[in-house]
Amino acid sequence: MIYSFDRGDPNQEKLLALLQRAGLDYEIIEKDGVVVHVLGAIASDLQAQLQSNFHGRKAVPSPCYAEIIERKEPIVIAGPCAVESEEQLAQTTAFLAELGIKYLRGGAFKPRTSPMSFQGLGKTGLRLLAKYTQRYGLKIVTEVMDRSHLDLVREYADIIQVGMRNMFNYSLLVALGAVDKPILLKRSMSATIKEWMAAAEYISRGGNRALILCERGIRTFEPLTRNTLDIAAVPLAKKLTGYPVIADPSHAAGRADLVPALALAALAAGADGVMIEIHPQPQQALSDEKQALTFAQFKDLLQKIRQLNSLHMNLNSHSNWEIQ
Ligand code: PEP
Ligand code: MN
Repeated sequence: MIYSFDRGDPNQEKLLALLQRAGLDYEIIEKDGVVVHVLGAIASDLQAQLQSNFHGRKAVPSPCYAEIIERKEPIVIAGPCAVESEEQLAQTTAFLAELGIKYLRGGAFKPRTSPMSFQGLGKTGLRLLAKYTQRYGLKIVTEVMDRSHLDLVREYADIIQVGMRNMFNYSLLVALGAVDKPILLKRSMSATIKEWMAAAEYISRGGNRALILCERGIRTFEPLTRNTLDIAAVPLAKKLTGYPVIADPSHAAGRADLVPALALAALAAGADGVMIEIHPQPQQALSDEKQALTFAQFKDLLQKIRQLNSLHMNLNSHSNWEIQ
């Protein structure tokens, strides 16, 4: 619940005293007035007390997140690793729209292991994303790399991505808790599932529960793939949090030939969707060129994803077994 007060309103102190007595956690956001977000479930007797003394409202769920929750098909997010040019986005968005894909990915701010690598087009990249997604009514999934860019990225993104390198960036996560857009939280390549869940909680405790978790592979001893897709993490994270969980087989595999198999495996394991890197000419991509699918390869994979979905099999009927 959210309670808004004018500055200096004595009712605010009364509310806080009540919450403290009940042992409930809350967060205060001060902007034009004072907003108190009550975190966690409110017991029914306290609820009655709050209702008779204060005017609260429920947090408004983002329409984009509602669409994700109510979807009939797996969530498919596709696009280039990085926004590179008008031509690249023009071709990619036209192609995705024709296939009925709703979510375009593309990094404008790119976290790169080497400082010598292409770092992204920044604001120009965000503007290009806006221009071409508007043309086809697509939604933008793009990464925020730094708290200082958050206002800018939030202006353009429909879903804000937290990359694996930032999963442990707690000040960024706290800031995202007060944002009114869904957050796609990638698992760090070195995070345990519990650490990943804790990162999600940093965001949700700020009041933003529109979370999508993304398993993108963890670092293991295997050098033939870029990372190892942790399939078990998909049903486990779903079970532990109830949030939608998607998989990113592109960053997990690091090579295009394995992407379809990993995408289908993740969906069979109960993933709510997949995020796939594609490029009009993968060999020319300025980043992650080895893992990008061509348009033809992606089209073929999408057909398989849709076939798998149409089986309507309850592949996850064991999901109410207890976790040890
Ligand atoms: C990305 O999806 O653009 C990306 C950089 O992935 P990750 O953070 O998983 O490495
Ligand atoms: Mn990439």
